Amino acid sequence: MANMHSAGPDTAQFVRPEIAREIIDELEAAQIEVMSWLESWHRAAICRLEPPATVLAQDGHLMSRFGAWYEHRRNRNMVDQVAFYALAKMHRKLYAVGRDLALRLLAAQPISMQDYDLLMQRFNAFSGQARQIADTLRVALSDIDPLTGVYNRRAMMEELEREHERFLRTGQPCTLCLTDIDLFKGVNDTYGHGVGDQVLEEVANRLLSGLRPYDSVFRYGGEEFLICLPNAGMLQARVIAERLRERLAESPIEISSNLELIVTASFGLATMEPSLVIKEVMARADRALYQSKAAGRNCVRHWADLDEAAREQTSPVAEAAG
Ligand code: GH3
Ligand code: MG
Ligand code: MG
Repeated sequence: MANMHSAGPDTAQFVRPEIAREIIDELEAAQIEVMSWLESWHRAAICRLEPPATVLAQDGHLMSRFGAWYEHRRNRNMVDQVAFYALAKMHRKLYAVGRDLALRLLAAQPISMQDYDLLMQRFNAFSGQARQIADTLRVALSDIDPLTGVYNRRAMMEELEREHERFLRTGQPCTLCLTDIDLFKGVNDTYGHGVGDQVLEEVANRLLSGLRPYDSVFRYGGEEFLICLPNAGMLQARVIAERLRERLAESPIEISSNLELIVTASFGLATMEPSLVIKEVMARADRALYQSKAAGRNCVRHWADLDEAAREQTSPVAEAAG
């Protein structure tokens, strides 16, 4: 599932919400900063004053908050992407043309209308691009669960319907995997909700790191995740789910220097079939999950493993959810 569109960064599927928020904040600050920079440029030009250092300095771009932030951040996460590279270039060009014109004013040289228009064009180009990237990130953030960084339920149905249509159109198999943390209530009860939250975050990280780039993870409920596995039929999905199960169970989660918790999860799988709507596939995965719990937890079951009676048994979670 690609979260970011057109102008925006394109590999942000698993971008941490706090990083997206930091970028949005910086882009908003940058728009205000260039506006005030342009204002000081105009004040100097109209009132015939000496322009401030931010206008005259050769490295005005680097002296600015945006320039310093970009240079500091660009090798990390999304800031190294094409859209940001272009944005920084626009910023550098804006400061360069502003400085050039200010120096000419100081030397009492004429400035043509085209020269002035170029300055304003560069200003508009930068502001427009900064706004567009921030908007794209804002849309993406509204699809992301703030605690775990995976997609929220809001984004889920839309994406599942898309994958379902793709399955019907191409015949490429697609399997849904429901994951529910085992005995999670006990973690909250024993160590507190804050530790529970840390566990949820780390479980989400381990799920994400064990998946393929085109798989998507959704926070389905409190301590339940739904994973969509395109191009995975029953056998491949089993391998993936086993891998995820092991990743969780094989090493404890480090909460603090003196607290490590072994956390496991149970998995229920169901593969799309042409005769089933997406809700029916989800209901099958839920029943398979229920059987994993019944079999003692920390295991994987596929709907196909279930006998007639088990296929009829709904989990209390599904019942509560209606
Ligand atoms: P089982 O193995 O049968 O799934 O047992 P369980 O204890 O995991 O199941 P149960 O559904 O009884 O408990 C789920 C708990 O998850 C209860 C709820 O307080 C907790 N929970 C749900 N959302 C959050 C959250 O965002 N943060 C924390 N810390 N706990 C949460
Ligand atoms: Mg649950
Ligand atoms: Mg649970």
